[in-house]
Amino acid sequence: MPFWERIKEDFPIFHNLGENFTYLDSAATSQKPYSVINALSDFYSRHNSNVHRGIYRLSEEATDLYGRSRENVSRFIGSSDPRQIVFVRNTTEALNLLAYSLGHDLVEGDEILLTIMEHHSNIVPWQFLQEKGVRIKYADIREDGTLDMDDLASKISPRTKIVSVTHVSNVLGTINPVAEIGRIAHDNGSIFIVDGAQSVPHMPVDVGRIGCDFMAFSGHKMLGPTGIGCLYGRIDLLEKMRPFMGGGEMIREVYTDHSTWADVPEKFEAGTPDIAGAIGLSAAVDYLRNLGMENVRDHGRELMRITFSLESEAGIPGLISYGPRNPDIRGPVYAFNIGSIHPMSVEESLADRGVGLGTVVHPHDVASTLDGKGVAVRSGHHCAMPLTHRINAVATSRASYYIYNTPEDVRRLFHSLEHTVKVYSR
Ligand code: PLP
Repeated sequence: MPFWERIKEDFPIFHNLGENFTYLDSAATSQKPYSVINALSDFYSRHNSNVHRGIYRLSEEATDLYGRSRENVSRFIGSSDPRQIVFVRNTTEALNLLAYSLGHDLVEGDEILLTIMEHHSNIVPWQFLQEKGVRIKYADIREDGTLDMDDLASKISPRTKIVSVTHVSNVLGTINPVAEIGRIAHDNGSIFIVDGAQSVPHMPVDVGRIGCDFMAFSGHKMLGPTGIGCLYGRIDLLEKMRPFMGGGEMIREVYTDHSTWADVPEKFEAGTPDIAGAIGLSAAVDYLRNLGMENVRDHGRELMRITFSLESEAGIPGLISYGPRNPDIRGPVYAFNIGSIHPMSVEESLADRGVGLGTVVHPHDVASTLDGKGVAVRSGHHCAMPLTHRINAVATSRASYYIYNTPEDVRRLFHSLEHTVKVYSR
């Protein structure tokens, strides 16, 4: 029996919300299995105390559990040394840390190369550096939603100090060829950063094979609790970098006029960390490892295959979807529109040419009509406004799948979409 046929039993939310609840928003955050919830409860019930600070047994236990969580996460992404894992709040914080710390050494005229498919968390922190004259360039996408590698190669220059790209787009689902981009970046002498928020939860990821200098990801998208995320960084680079936040735990010595820093990774973990969160994330890693990340990836691919086949079978008038059609090069994310929601300028030019838009249903209306059918999808720009504009949309609806979703969930999506179009065609 394939694992997904019984997997919902491991997740209390499906039991509590009942059979008719179809959760298709895991790209925003995943549901949590009992093992993760129990790990949090167990920590607070039996081991709760602060790490590092106490010389008593309970604090040593908490410190040990926290350290073992770091080791577990490190192994999970193929890092050779647990000191290369810095616990942060989420992908956003990891990328802000990098922009702040690496950005300190950049000067006017230096360049940062991103892609047009980045999440805002891999755009806005770099934009802060524009104040000191740093330039940001964006590699474009092709019409099929894949990254235009020629454009990327043409935009890298001797001034490009950092190349930072998402591994998997949270809108198009595109899986980017990160190992190849890493080679281009390194041949150019640039630092190479990967946003792994949508890849680490869904496929085997090995930072050594990818050859990245840094990778950011969030625990809550991979079955773990909210409030814990990771920055992987090459130890030699982390050691040279300036700290991000100051305070307790990140120092070696503090004087009235200056301080010295603790070793990596503590240098980047100021204040009391999310101890329970790290332990919960470690339980999530155990759960995923037990399923096997190859199986997790295969299941996502299978759900995308079913999605495309139901999409053509259903023949919903005006339905358009975005991103590559080949499930082998995309993650389990399905962004779509009904009747296509264009910016006003495009709508006006279509109207001028006498092109009708058919039944147009705004993504927010799609999401709320689906919600009425018990199907939870997200609508909006998905924190990727430059990409939304690039694909000529003002917003999209997005269904995103994870290990607990079944072919039946995908069928429910399409039945509910058929219903939506009927409602709005009246
Ligand atoms: N990067 C990508 C590709 C994402 O999909 C997301 C979240 O949706 C993020 C970064 C930001 O993650 P977080 O909100 O956990 O910081």
